[in-house]
Amino acid sequence: MVHGYKGVKFQNWARTYGCCPEMYFQPTSVEEIREVDTEKKQVTVEAGILLTDLHPQLDKHGLALSNLGAVSDVTAGGVIGSGTHNTGIKHGILATQVVALTLLMADGTILECSESSNAEVFQAARVHLGCLGVVLTVTLQCVPQFHLQETTFPSTLKEVLDNLDSHLKKSEYFRFLWFPHSENVSVIYQDHTIKPPSSSANWFWDYAIGFYLLEFLLWISTFLPGLVGWINRFFFWLLFNGKKENCNLSHKIFTYECRFKQHVQDWAIPRPLPQVWVPSPLPPRAEGREKTKEALLELKAMLEANPKVVAHYPVEVRFTRGDDILLSPCFQRDSCYMNIIMYRPYGKDVPRLDYWLAYETIMKKVGGRPHWAKAHNCTRKDFEKMYPAFQRFCAIREKLDPTGMFLNAYLEKVFY
Ligand SMILES: Cc1cc2nc3c(=O)[nH]c(=O)nc-3n(C[C@H](O)[C@H](O)[C@H](O)COP(=O)(O)OP(=O)(O)OC[C@H]3O[C@@H](n4cnc5c(N)ncnc54)[C@H](O)[C@@H]3O)c2cc1C
Repeated sequence: MVHGYKGVKFQNWARTYGCCPEMYFQPTSVEEIREVDTEKKQVTVEAGILLTDLHPQLDKHGLALSNLGAVSDVTAGGVIGSGTHNTGIKHGILATQVVALTLLMADGTILECSESSNAEVFQAARVHLGCLGVVLTVTLQCVPQFHLQETTFPSTLKEVLDNLDSHLKKSEYFRFLWFPHSENVSVIYQDHTIKPPSSSANWFWDYAIGFYLLEFLLWISTFLPGLVGWINRFFFWLLFNGKKENCNLSHKIFTYECRFKQHVQDWAIPRPLPQVWVPSPLPPRAEGREKTKEALLELKAMLEANPKVVAHYPVEVRFTRGDDILLSPCFQRDSCYMNIIMYRPYGKDVPRLDYWLAYETIMKKVGGRPHWAKAHNCTRKDFEKMYPAFQRFCAIREKLDPTGMFLNAYLEKVFY
């Protein structure tokens, strides 16, 4: 029996959202790793395990997750529930690594879900939004442990947009950072390597002086917004203007320190990826190839036409394979994610509404779907248009949780 507590306040990492649940329950019997199946390279974990705790366990077995988001202080149940993604021509969102899960439903029964058992619920529950029940365990398909080499080098927006397919084919985990109010781009390639761990980063500049200086200058720019363009260009010159290489275990390269509290939006727009040898649930498609270029150039033009609208760096652009998970932003289409950011220097909010609105308008125009864990203004009407299987998900949710036990104010906006 798990005891509940009143008076608990929840806040998100960026301190931009919070809530006071009626009751807070925290199970105390934690049996962290149940079973590693070394033959199938699968691991079954409790949904609440932090990925930071999972990595060393997988290291011991010579295994790894094939892809990760930017941070590992997140849980297995949480990252799949909100559709967390990274980048990579061969890779889907993190939930595509799930081969089975168990769900404690509102009526107290436990449902085992996989491709072969309760397949329809499985198709919904991998991006579950927390509304289908309590995910108890998650079985993840792992790969043999691997090292990555990260190579970062400067380029321009025009060059990257003109040669997207070529960049995508050159690197397994390609992404790029655009520095708004400039043409500057930092290209990041991450690829398998057998080289030993090494780093050419200038840790002093990059991670000490650079970050303290950036936060201070961003704070100054809250009084002088015209400084933001200069800050973006200065930091590109300071931190991103040369070639850098890092080699390490995959989870150490995928994740990095996100130092500052921030507001973010991250929509997925259609972007067919070049074919590679990888089993894909989707037929090859061509439409949408130009949408990444169209969206970024429109965002750039908007900033140029409205000098009072400021945008912090970077706009991070990542690519993900399509899947068949009902509420995945990549449902039935390969996608390009475009993450915009406004920092909160020393916790101070920076005006962002004009930037946010212009970005959302562009994203909707090019057929985008918002990331479930990041800011957006969409309601059920929007999701019905965006997601061909939205009604199917709703029917499954209503069947599993007919009284709405797992709903909250956010989810009511999504479903009602
Ligand atoms: C610094 C930072 C960097 C980030 N980088 C990325 C990135 O690179 N890519 C990306 O896509 N996202 C990124 N995110 C977003 C992040 O991946 C999501 O917010 C993710 O959901 C966080 O996991 P969590 O364990 O904190 O989940 P929570 O926020 O706790 O949960 C997410 C959802 O899942 C539900 N849930 C959690 N556990 C269970 C369970 N056991 N049963 C039922 N429901 C459950 C919750 O109710 C909620 O609806 C980042 C976030 C931060 C703060």
